[in-house]
Amino acid sequence: MNSTATLALPAALASEGMPWGIGWLQRILESAGVTSDWIPWEAVWLVQFFLLVCLAFHLLERKGPRIFPERRPGPFHHGWRADLAATILHGPVLSGLLEIAAVGLLLWIPALAAPGMASWPWAVQFLIFFLAIDFLRYWLHRWHHASPFLWRLHRVHHSAEEMTFFTSSRFHLGEALLVYVALPLPFKLAGLSPSVLMVYAALDLAKGFWQHANWRNSIGVANLFISSAEQHWWHHARDGEGMNANFGSFLSIWDRMFGTFYWRPGQWPRQVGIDGVTHFPRSYLGRFLSAWRSNDEFRSPDQPAARAESSKGVNVSAPYEDSGRAAHEDIEARAV
Ligand SMILES: [Zn+2]
Ligand SMILES: [Zn+2]
Repeated sequence: MNSTATLALPAALASEGMPWGIGWLQRILESAGVTSDWIPWEAVWLVQFFLLVCLAFHLLERKGPRIFPERRPGPFHHGWRADLAATILHGPVLSGLLEIAAVGLLLWIPALAAPGMASWPWAVQFLIFFLAIDFLRYWLHRWHHASPFLWRLHRVHHSAEEMTFFTSSRFHLGEALLVYVALPLPFKLAGLSPSVLMVYAALDLAKGFWQHANWRNSIGVANLFISSAEQHWWHHARDGEGMNANFGSFLSIWDRMFGTFYWRPGQWPRQVGIDGVTHFPRSYLGRFLSAWRSNDEFRSPDQPAARAESSKGVNVSAPYEDSGRAAHEDIEARAV
């Protein structure tokens, strides 16, 4: 698919021609007489990175101050197998699908090839891709809350009643296809370096773990620019205005720009999840099939009558902007 040369990381991250940190594995294989040319080293590097950040955030949740002290640290929380399945399926499998989609489209419609980005310096490619994807992810996230159809997909993520770092993997396949295949596809067609995608994927993984970990931490005034755990936990709040805010992925500048920024220094929501939804499926298949079921089917029998089938209780009969206006005005008043 790609030569080693085109997949190589930039010099600053490379060591002996291998992605940083896995030269040891190559040396072990070579000493055992195994050739390693056929090994997708970038994928191996990402797996190693994944295991390291899992360990790091597990220790932070165990040893650091927790937001919910009574909760078990990840990854062995309720439904963790489904979260692990989502990580595997939405990571390596969808990145493979992205490659196949890009190659297939170029074979089918060669005119789509616009290899402009391939000749740009690596740092420029990364910066353009990072900012463009972050902007698109902000609006796609808002759309998932505003559209009743897309909310059925995004509801899988918000139905988590206990958050751990692994909650960042808890997504419906339909939403993962939009975020990890549809959004980066035009950049692949434009010749984006695979190593840009790889570095972005690693940063995205660590950022997601940080935003969802049951670990009380603060980045202070950097909240004005970065979508932090402090902000994202409010996005998962079960009630209050914070749950209609903080749609940013890496950057909070979009939230500040478009009036959805919410930050209470040192404060965290008391409950996370979806109001009234207490019996959401714990298996990957159950969560996948949940898109065809209403909120009412995930309530305990003794709960009161259903609220509107909507984005976390926001009435979908009203446009998002209207239903969230009061919250947004309040947010803007609080925004620094
Ligand atoms: Zn959301
Ligand atoms: Zn989240």
